[in-house]
Amino acid sequence: MAALGAYRCIECNGEAAELYRDYRRGVLRISICKSCQKPVDKYIEYDPVIILINAVLCKAQAYRHILFNTKINIHGKLCIFCLLCEAYIRWLQLQDSSQNTDPDDLIRYAKEWDFYRMFGIASLEQTSFFIGIFITLWWMTPEMLKRKSDFILLLKALLLSTYGKLLLIPAVIWEHDYTPLCLAFIKVFVLISNSQAIRVTLNLNRILPWFAIFFGLILENGVVCLFQKMGWDV
Ligand SMILES: [Zn+2]
Repeated sequence: MAALGAYRCIECNGEAAELYRDYRRGVLRISICKSCQKPVDKYIEYDPVIILINAVLCKAQAYRHILFNTKINIHGKLCIFCLLCEAYIRWLQLQDSSQNTDPDDLIRYAKEWDFYRMFGIASLEQTSFFIGIFITLWWMTPEMLKRKSDFILLLKALLLSTYGKLLLIPAVIWEHDYTPLCLAFIKVFVLISNSQAIRVTLNLNRILPWFAIFFGLILENGVVCLFQKMGWDV
């Protein structure tokens, strides 16, 4: 039997030793939480699509299920893919803004280099945004981020909750007059899911995650301004 704390109750965030009990001969019984008397994790019976829809709706229960009760391990690849999407959008916008320039500029290698540069800038912005969040949370709630594993879980939650950036690609492929509005909505959606991920991971109120995100955004923009002042074309 697993130790208490191996899983979390998705309703009250209480610790649980197991999600279900196997009575053999195909008889399984979902565990009931000792604190709130509700099923520890009702989502183990649900279809992944339903769980995904609930996650898109930013339900705390779905976030707890994904972060605490599954062994999902795609955050690294997802992060790279989201950064590639962001780099592609920026690279496309860069091409649009320099359409009528000298034909020599249309050398493929120069364009490829531009893409890598955009990828580097997007990574730098993402990193400073996360560092801003970590510093704020570590400063405001040091008891929540005592161990290395707490930091790793928070980083995983932040990376997973940035999945909304994948929507950037369809928003640009089906380009229309409202594309800038769509991009703004995607940005807001990513921030909302980031805030929900922080809230669920550290079991905080609603205000503190937004405070951390606000400082993350300040640091992100600060780093960009600093590089621009240094003469880098960011
Ligand atoms: Zn409970």
